[in-house]
Amino acid sequence: MADLARGGFAALDPCVHCGFCLPACPTYLATGDESDSPRGRILLMRALERGDLAPDDPALAHHLDVCLGCRGCEPVCPSGVGYGHGLEEARDRLVRRNGLPFRTRAVLRLFRHRWAWRTAFGIGRWIRGAGVARAVAGPGRIGFLAGMLEATRPSSDGHQPASAAVTRGTVALFRGCVMEGLFDHVHGATRRTLETNGYRVIEPESQVCCGALHAHAGDREGARALGRVNLVALIGRADYIVVNSAGCGALLKELGPLLGTEEAARLAASTRDVTELLAAAGPRPGAAIGKDVCYDAPCHLQHAQGVHREALQVLRAIEGLSPRLLPGFDRCCGAAGIYGVLQPEMSRAVLEAKILAIASADPVPDLVATGNPGCLMQIGAGLIAAGLPTTVAHPVELLDWSYRNAGFYR
Ligand code: SF4
Ligand code: SF4
Repeated sequence: MADLARGGFAALDPCVHCGFCLPACPTYLATGDESDSPRGRILLMRALERGDLAPDDPALAHHLDVCLGCRGCEPVCPSGVGYGHGLEEARDRLVRRNGLPFRTRAVLRLFRHRWAWRTAFGIGRWIRGAGVARAVAGPGRIGFLAGMLEATRPSSDGHQPASAAVTRGTVALFRGCVMEGLFDHVHGATRRTLETNGYRVIEPESQVCCGALHAHAGDREGARALGRVNLVALIGRADYIVVNSAGCGALLKELGPLLGTEEAARLAASTRDVTELLAAAGPRPGAAIGKDVCYDAPCHLQHAQGVHREALQVLRAIEGLSPRLLPGFDRCCGAAGIYGVLQPEMSRAVLEAKILAIASADPVPDLVATGNPGCLMQIGAGLIAAGLPTTVAHPVELLDWSYRNAGFYR
């Protein structure tokens, strides 16, 4: 009972303050301030739980707000501290006591209503299609936002549907909000590559945003409300729920504890990242695409879902492609959901290290592959701002391209 009242704070108990996590923390590397490190934030969260710090303490709120929630500190921790659970608990308590700041509330409200984000992304697609994003993209604040939009452009077009025998069961594609609004081409690639590997793909109606943005910002009620709608839309519809956005996949895999029902736990257990399903199928080898590719691991795929090998396996199915891992490939790029909107300076400071690693690679890669919309937009905009020729793509886009070159599509 005592542990239930403590919620996610219990996951912080194993911390012995050794500090092994400090060099893995992008915000600590950016500021050098112990309070911006996992160890420092754990001390703050413990003080919050004990009541030594009040929930409206401005320094407490600042250092927790600046945390990316990337969970890069978890795999390097020898004591197995569940930092992410502690952070969610702390943010939930702060939000319940202080409410959400106006800007956060405004952004999250947009994602609560399908008509609202569909309208917003429709405008975004128009700006992208008219070439405005490309013309304006650059290093300044507006240029960076335009670069983020430009980075959502498909890396190759013009496919026809695949036709292959269904041998591995039915999967329901989770469409999400940003993915549906700006990355429909990745949904297309997901569908075709899965079909080529023996899956039948369906797309149930009435899905909504997964609620990951809400959960990370401390709006657990908002995340639960969206989770309940998705549960009704997806449960019992297919053998697996397939997700091509690392952030959405991580949230759906944690739907059991979030909603606290047996049905939610079942849906969570059937959720897979697209690379997991493709890797389970082989995947079928494709033809060369003639590009040099580096892989960057989304935090919510590698740290939150523990999925890494599978994404590399998908890329290795492309003839002649051996994806490189640059220094810091497993470190956050600074996107972190709506973090870039709420903490633009820190977000850009964290991104800088990523862009530097790409710019210093020898040779500089043609493409950076990564399986999360936020990372694609953040890294893509950073590359444009730095004037580098490298572009970004989702791993399944590249496999799709390779399958087209192999003549698998009609
Ligand atoms: S979180 Fe883990 S690695 Fe970091 S100080 Fe605590 S025990 Fe050490
Ligand atoms: S979640 Fe990321 S930013 Fe936050 S403390 Fe851990 S490593 Fe640092």
